[in-house]
Amino acid sequence: MAGNILAKSKESFDAPRPKFSDLLADPNIKKRWEKVRKYFFLRESTYDMTNRCNIRCDGCYYYEGDKQFAVENLNPEDWRKLMQAEKARGITYVVLAGAEPSLVPELLEVCYNEMPLGSIATNGFKKIPESVGYKIHISLWGNDETSWRVRKAKNLLKKQIENYQGDDRAVFVYTFTRENIDEVEEVTSQLVAHNCKLTFNVFSSPVGYHGPLRHDSQSLVRTRKTMIELLGRYPKNVLFSAYNAVAHTHEKGLHDLYSCSYPRCNPSQDIGLGRSFRQYRTDLNWDRSVACCVPDTDCPDCRHYAAGSAVVTARLYRHVGDADTFKSWLDYVDTYLAVWVMGYEKGENLCRSVIEPPQAK
Ligand code: SF4
Ligand code: SF4
Repeated sequence: MAGNILAKSKESFDAPRPKFSDLLADPNIKKRWEKVRKYFFLRESTYDMTNRCNIRCDGCYYYEGDKQFAVENLNPEDWRKLMQAEKARGITYVVLAGAEPSLVPELLEVCYNEMPLGSIATNGFKKIPESVGYKIHISLWGNDETSWRVRKAKNLLKKQIENYQGDDRAVFVYTFTRENIDEVEEVTSQLVAHNCKLTFNVFSSPVGYHGPLRHDSQSLVRTRKTMIELLGRYPKNVLFSAYNAVAHTHEKGLHDLYSCSYPRCNPSQDIGLGRSFRQYRTDLNWDRSVACCVPDTDCPDCRHYAAGSAVVTARLYRHVGDADTFKSWLDYVDTYLAVWVMGYEKGENLCRSVIEPPQAK
């Protein structure tokens, strides 16, 4: 999720670059720029709500590293005070995650009452009360057979659809692994039949994970092709763009492509995420040296949608070299806002070409 889009980087570039005003001469580009820039005030941090989960998935990054052992603070007043303190230091957007936030609905209410912009990452098995008006991201790891094998959850998709069909908060997030690429068609058509919205994620291995879900170069190519096909077929339901597919299925991970700005990868505390981002554990403590939106993920293999929504959007200045590249970046930002912000509607994508991510010198 974006931390600070306009964190001006110190990057330099070889090629001559058009003036920004020339890029905005196209009325469609200008309109989209004006639409997305209203949200540049978003400043995120993330919060583990409980160390419990009602299912157990192979390849889960929550149950890696130390954070799973933090004790739970279930005191609503402590959470209220934390949210008030976060607001006071400039945080405007919360991501409530790990392990399974739907197990502590009263804490979600407290957060929502203090901080009205945010999202919740859930497996969708237990419905979150409608009074909690955050975006809700429901994780999908394949069809029901795969969910049973990898997540030990029976009839998961059916249950998720029952819980969230017709709910404006809900975005289903299909995580492509090396093994489930062929299942996405079946899952997408079921979601579309129930008029649900979905977006795509790419499995990013936890540190030390070398199991069968980890991508290789062939599976990344197949994933990209499948994403773009589904986007073309279901443009109203699939919240995505060609550039999202490029950024998340590149042979290089997000850090190598864009240089990740989360504290774990970024020693600078001057601006942007390096200054403001914190990842709170269930005991309400945080540790800068491991802080990012997907802690305990293996950085070279990180292609996670949550990471990209901050890492790619922060690189505005890298994407103003030509009109197609800027349009691709705008599509990316428009997608992430539609996925993460209540009430934001995705526009039609401006660029359908597959462009190579621009590199700084
Ligand atoms: S639902 Fe999420 S937190 Fe729970 S085990 Fe699966 S990946 Fe981990
Ligand atoms: S895991 Fe991803 S988001 Fe986290 S620090 Fe590494 S590259 Fe950045």
